[in-house]
Amino acid sequence: MLADDDEIAPAKTGLKRYPFLFLVDISGSTGDQPDPDIHHINTSLANIMDLLRKPTPSSELAKQIDKVDVCIVSYSDDVHDVMPWKEAEKIPASLPLLVPMGGTSTAKAFEYALNRIADRLTFYNTKKLGFGMPHIIHFTDGAINDAKPGDAKWNAIKSRLSQVDGRTNSEKRIATMINFISPKGCSKDFVEVDGRKMSGIELLSELTGAQSIYEMGKEQTTFEGFVKLITVLITKITHNFRTQDAVDEAAKAIKDGKTKLRNVGKG
Ligand SMILES: [Mg+2]
Repeated sequence: MLADDDEIAPAKTGLKRYPFLFLVDISGSTGDQPDPDIHHINTSLANIMDLLRKPTPSSELAKQIDKVDVCIVSYSDDVHDVMPWKEAEKIPASLPLLVPMGGTSTAKAFEYALNRIADRLTFYNTKKLGFGMPHIIHFTDGAINDAKPGDAKWNAIKSRLSQVDGRTNSEKRIATMINFISPKGCSKDFVEVDGRKMSGIELLSELTGAQSIYEMGKEQTTFEGFVKLITVLITKITHNFRTQDAVDEAAKAIKDGKTKLRNVGKG
């Protein structure tokens, strides 16, 4: 694990922190031709990080006083910190390009991501910093293969997620996960589990609940809209919008007509 940024300038200590962990599936399937999802993921992630590091001067994000903290984690068979926790303004100007390879250890990755959120909350508590709801923003095609519905590992992570995300008790929500499914994961029969053919969306829904899942969009141009959407989403969350309302507001704010954000849970 890379070292987290633990330098907080004294003048900033009164501010609230908003932790966002980007969890990125870089398994072999994201490199499938034609038009591999990983290219869109790399471009989207780089543009999102640029906007978070240097928000457009007139934007709401630039005007806000509270601080956004970001961590990027990638996974295939194993899980790695691409960038440890940092204040958004300290995000490096260039990040390593993610290269697809290996399996899709989503259960392991969720476990790791929750622990990384816990690391940051411990840090805030130690420094006596106020913070907003932590969010995990997950990019994947949904083809999980380190656990399958009903096995012990699946049930363990499903149970942990449902305790964390408030599905079992909304007052005890400690983090919110938003899953964005890349184009290939939206197609039917993308995965097969014990003879059942389904899309990545359907498989992931069984683990995280359909309400947490959105389609990234299928056309090339939608990725530009997607970047804007994530930045608006983060801005809304830091203005204390509930996640669901923040996503709806973000979708509304993207008026170029290219981004159609579909929440799977809404049918
Ligand atoms: Mg995969």
